Amino acid sequence: MPLTEEPKDRWAWVEIDLNAVRKNTRAIKALLSRGTKLMCAVKADGYGHGAVECTKAMRSAGADQFAVATVAEGVELRKAGIEWPILMLNQAPEAAIPTLVEYDIMPSVFTSEFALAYGECAAAYDKVGKYHLAIDTGMTRIGVLPEEVVDFRHSIDFHRGLQCAGTFTHFATADTVRDWDFRLQAERFMGAVKALRDAGCDVGLVHCDNTPGTILHPELHNDMCRAGIGLYGLQPSEATAPRISLAPAMSVRARVTRAIYPAVGEGVSYGLNYRVPTPHVQVATIPLGYADGLSRTLSGRMDVLVHGKRARQVGNICMDQCMFAVDTNPVRSYRRATPVAEGDLVTIIGEDGDECITADEMAQLRGTINYEVTCNFGMRMEKVYV
Ligand SMILES: *Cc1c(COP(=O)(O)O)cnc(C)c1O
Repeated sequence: MPLTEEPKDRWAWVEIDLNAVRKNTRAIKALLSRGTKLMCAVKADGYGHGAVECTKAMRSAGADQFAVATVAEGVELRKAGIEWPILMLNQAPEAAIPTLVEYDIMPSVFTSEFALAYGECAAAYDKVGKYHLAIDTGMTRIGVLPEEVVDFRHSIDFHRGLQCAGTFTHFATADTVRDWDFRLQAERFMGAVKALRDAGCDVGLVHCDNTPGTILHPELHNDMCRAGIGLYGLQPSEATAPRISLAPAMSVRARVTRAIYPAVGEGVSYGLNYRVPTPHVQVATIPLGYADGLSRTLSGRMDVLVHGKRARQVGNICMDQCMFAVDTNPVRSYRRATPVAEGDLVTIIGEDGDECITADEMAQLRGTINYEVTCNFGMRMEKVYV
């Protein structure tokens, strides 16, 4: 297990394998034809993996551009010295426009009020405000409707402070094969791009494929693909798994802060909903909880790995700590385990010996997707890069 420098002040941390990030980036880049650019989504602090470190790793592996969700995320990258193009995947409040201009963060644009205010500000700074036009082809989230794109461009193109550097849409069902709704979105998008070109508009880089689209729909790579989850080594859906092999970059680890043998019948954690059932059951504590991304809905339903074996988490997960049980009964334990001691290493996500707990396993237990699992673990724990 690659344990180089764990945090000195806390026995719970997130381990990020930047080699895996580079490997995944190269694997995705290898799906693209020569000349097709790769935009890497590093929003939400790189899906919880650390945006700055991941951006650098992805760049070294062939990434061309980066995408963030908020102004603050873009500013963080710029302050860390990142000079490559950054697209914000949304419009911003008008009050944030000077920051976008100052830090050279391209917004996505879908209202003329915002676009013109952005152009005004850029012109006032003697700059050209590059933006990407967002088209809503069926996800009903953001964007100009396909039938309105040409009029939209005509309503803003007079402004000398504006330059369209890209035109994009986002798919709602790119992770499903042979999906009719996906085809409809793709048709609407390519139709809108053609209409813009026919009307003489410079559309900049045309892009629509996210990770599942990049893997399953190469015919829609266009000028650029926008990958996220795959770069971090997770599959966006079961359909993509057979097509590309990816290496998960995140592990979550902790060390045991306390381990005791409570008397039979003693309860564990808020509500005492777990009671020690038999003698020789050890209850051990680790210092991470729901404020670290370990959802409380997992209470009593998830495993952790210790000494290369699974142990059941027991009692309600607290804000900053949780407990697990190890049955060391030498006679009739069904899952007999070696006793744990203070300082022993515990794996919440990742490998320990032959055992592994994946973000997908945890997502399934939580009733969510792997994206949310890694984002959540990025909230408070220190990240250690290996
Ligand atoms: C997050 C996001 C992506 C990346 O999606 P993945 O499924 O993680 O590859 C691409 N485009 C937009 C607009 C996004 O919001």
